[in-house]
Amino acid sequence: MPELPEVETTKRGLEPLIVNQTVERVLLHRDNLRWDIPKHLNTTFANQKVKSIKRRGKYLLVEFDVGTLIMHLGMSGSIKVVDKNTPLIKHDHFEVIFTNGKSMRLNDPRRFGAVLFSKDGSHKLLDSLGVEPLEGLFDDTYLYTRSRKKMQNIKAFIMDSKVVVGVGNIYACESLFKSGIDPQRKAGEVSKQKYKLLSENIKSILKKSIESGGTTLQDFSQVDGSPGYFAQTLLVYGREGDSCDTCNGKIERITQNQRSTFYCKQCQT
Ligand SMILES: [Zn+2]
Repeated sequence: MPELPEVETTKRGLEPLIVNQTVERVLLHRDNLRWDIPKHLNTTFANQKVKSIKRRGKYLLVEFDVGTLIMHLGMSGSIKVVDKNTPLIKHDHFEVIFTNGKSMRLNDPRRFGAVLFSKDGSHKLLDSLGVEPLEGLFDDTYLYTRSRKKMQNIKAFIMDSKVVVGVGNIYACESLFKSGIDPQRKAGEVSKQKYKLLSENIKSILKKSIESGGTTLQDFSQVDGSPGYFAQTLLVYGREGDSCDTCNGKIERITQNQRSTFYCKQCQT
């Protein structure tokens, strides 16, 4: 599944290719992905120039004077920019052709992605999103304050997109290990000191992953969230039964909130 680093890398890759380009036409190769694709997109965006591209959580926001094109990669989506005469390939569902002869295509085999429109840049899907993990608001004070009296486990807490966006399963497991926090601890019982470590580790893991993504717009599709894209050495994720690099104990796998958690009982308390 494309995670925040892949979406950020997609944004950075698209930026020089589409900003300041003028739309020739918009083509819908099907009516819907996760939701219906608005039928008016061609009428709305034809002859309009892309002002900027932003990321909020895992949503890409392509901004025009007349409104914002919102895209989400879902479980298996990817975006590339090719010459407009390049034949479509299977699962190319949505296309924006620019007057410079290039075409931006959203490919999404499982169709959990989205193409939406907003007149003023706001959208109900964006309203409930928590803070961005790579921005200043995300720190120990924020996590400590938000978590007081919370009975849910710390892993579910940091994976809750209403708290902070983009901390997927791999990032949660790895950052909890690096911070020495038992993923089963109640969020409300984790100290401010531990939250300082945790917020710093989440930031550094996400940043490294973004850096390793480069600027190519190919191969973002991760079928199952496997760590193929995640070029960093994984310390616990997917390593059930291996020895912990720190203490030599066994890495264990448990299920929390229907997701696998990998951790070291001795290092994480
Ligand atoms: Zn250990």
